Amino acid sequence: MSEKILVLPGDGIGPEVTREACRVLEIAAQRAGLKLEMEEALIGGASIDADGTPLADAVVAQARASRAVLLGAVGGPKWDALSVDTRPEKGLLRIRKELGLFANLRPATVFPALAGASTLRPEVVDGIDLLVVRELTGGIYFGEPRGRALVEGRREARNTMVYDEVEIDRITRVAFDSARRRRHHLTHVHKANVLEVSQLWMEVVDEVAKDYDDVELAHQLVDSCAMLLVRDPGRFDVIVTGNLFGDILSDEAAMITGSLGMLPSASLGEGGVGLYEPVHGSAPDIAGQDAANPLAAILSVAMMLEHTFEREDVAAQVRGAVTAVLAEGHRTGDLVLDGEERPTLGCVAMGDAVLRQLEKGA
Ligand code: NAD
Repeated sequence: MSEKILVLPGDGIGPEVTREACRVLEIAAQRAGLKLEMEEALIGGASIDADGTPLADAVVAQARASRAVLLGAVGGPKWDALSVDTRPEKGLLRIRKELGLFANLRPATVFPALAGASTLRPEVVDGIDLLVVRELTGGIYFGEPRGRALVEGRREARNTMVYDEVEIDRITRVAFDSARRRRHHLTHVHKANVLEVSQLWMEVVDEVAKDYDDVELAHQLVDSCAMLLVRDPGRFDVIVTGNLFGDILSDEAAMITGSLGMLPSASLGEGGVGLYEPVHGSAPDIAGQDAANPLAAILSVAMMLEHTFEREDVAAQVRGAVTAVLAEGHRTGDLVLDGEERPTLGCVAMGDAVLRQLEKGA
């Protein structure tokens, strides 16, 4: 039986990087003995131009009927003047919501050949390989009551942080499952010394931990976690946390690796459809110039192989091919350090280099 993959290239460099990622996915799928059926549809500005909406209902239905969605990026100056509700980003928010994607997985890995791109010293960066599992659909970004008011002549605003035990349980299980596939260590990040919400997280995480006695669990205050991420990031394997802390820590963890064009992500939900996308945006400044780095999109495909198809072996081959290409010295423009002089590859040539490595490793 063939597995349906919906590809949503989006705007700017989105179509360029997803094209390379799809080429890699095809070869990797053959390797895994998977029969894939890839369909393409519109999202973001491209969808606004064609259908007058950032995400058409028919595309939502297509996504629901797929095993996984591979997304490029959305947005660009052409649509910047539109109202918030009709902008390209709305398409992204809607697909995440429609697919019930409550778990956002953001790995931060330092490829040895790129250690110099980090703002941290090489000996601190060496060996960073961590995964932030962030709750994506609850917490303070969605809690009610929220809003602004004028109280006795003074402007006031409020937001509410709220989680129930079911929301905490399901994200914690995603994190423990991930830790099982990695180095068997999970850090739960919280602020239980001041927040009742965090105290509930502690309780539920400890309860879930009973089902995972092969994974070592630690609880860490969010402020000290933020410090440790820049002082000793190599100590972390998997981090699980709520929406607000996860938003901040996943960006912090990502940036210590130094390269926006290298960061993949996965969002998983209850419906079983996973959404895989590079962390970067549509980079309008380099769109259409064959200058984009496709590696974040290619590494997103590796995450798809791991999480949707449970083929960690083939995912590792894709990551291995990327590591080897970088070790050989190949770079797209964004990976060249200031003051460094070296020839660069375009988006397609970088895709070719990864494919060559994959085939070599066969
Ligand atoms: P951006 O990530 O698009 O670009 C930031 C900088 O990084 C740019 O200089 C760009 O050239 C570079 N860059 C990003 N990805 C690259 C890659 N793969 N290869 C080489 N260089 C790369 O962020 P931005 O400039 O703040 O936003 C541009 C547009 O993208 C906006 O419309 C924004 O709303 C949108 N955006 C979309 C997403 C998404 O779709 N998930 C995420 C962030 C921003």
